[in-house]
Amino acid sequence: MIVVHTVAALRSALAPFRLRQNTIGFVPTMGALHQGHLALLHQAAAENDATVLSVFVNPTQFDDPADLAAYPRTAALDQALAESAGVAVYFAPPPAEVYPPAFSATVALAGPIVDNYEGAHRGAQHFHGVTTVVTKLLMMVQPDRGYFGQKDAQQLRVVRALVDDLNIDVQIVAVPTVREPDGLALSSRNIRLTADDRASALGLSRALFNGRNNFDRGTRLSSSILADSNRLLREHSLAVEYLGVVDGDSFEPVELIGSAGAVLIVAATAGRTRLIDNVILDEAVIPGQGTTLRPVAAHTATKEG
Ligand code: AMP
Repeated sequence: MIVVHTVAALRSALAPFRLRQNTIGFVPTMGALHQGHLALLHQAAAENDATVLSVFVNPTQFDDPADLAAYPRTAALDQALAESAGVAVYFAPPPAEVYPPAFSATVALAGPIVDNYEGAHRGAQHFHGVTTVVTKLLMMVQPDRGYFGQKDAQQLRVVRALVDDLNIDVQIVAVPTVREPDGLALSSRNIRLTADDRASALGLSRALFNGRNNFDRGTRLSSSILADSNRLLREHSLAVEYLGVVDGDSFEPVELIGSAGAVLIVAATAGRTRLIDNVILDEAVIPGQGTTLRPVAAHTATKEG
């Protein structure tokens, strides 16, 4: 595994792969790697000749400086995990490499996919930070495929819109959410949960699975699904930011769940840790995704679906 910290070194490291016309799979992360990230890396390794991993805690997508400061950083462990996952090039740029002093560009999408839910609660600059850094990373790596988790469903939708809108020549691949055996979605932030927070955090997946069970039993009114799931969130002492049934393509709320891909999404705070999660409710193909992702509950750090 080649470890690089600058764009110039990244390009040199990738040159031999390009010369051999090897395909490159790219997994952008903010580090503190866990089995969810590893699922992305394994899928990238299975589908490409070489895998590039980036580890960069992107300051511009944090609305809260305290959240940025507290974001977990586990560089040595990340390198060891990346090596064991078969990563060819490990790219960990310092902030000044990505945002030098003269940097002034912003890549910003508009509309409900960036305004609603995460955009509304974290502020417009959150997705502007995401789309700007993802654009930069895709320009730096120029991969054939980019791997993103269904765990961040709205971000995945935004990244798909970004590459479509800007004609970026990369295939975006969605990877199902990896969960703890009890259902909690893996997240780098989970290491900050106290025992009490951890018990509360379980309310997110319970509320989502409960919603999907209601859907499976025939409930099609979002308000009924949400009322029941909201009750579960409250029972777990979670501070709920949002819970909604959305169209997976538009990220607009859905009242009556029809044939389009509907996703049940949630954001809530357990103690001081903000968590997000989602499940896909129906069997429909999420538009643009090309595959049906049908999550199932509680496997030991295995992929859903
Ligand atoms: P992050 O480091 O949190 O920015 O995440 C990097 C990538 O890993 C994103 O595409 C996430 O959606 C994905 N990811 C994070 N957690 C999980 C998970 N539990 N299962 C699958 N993918 C995940």
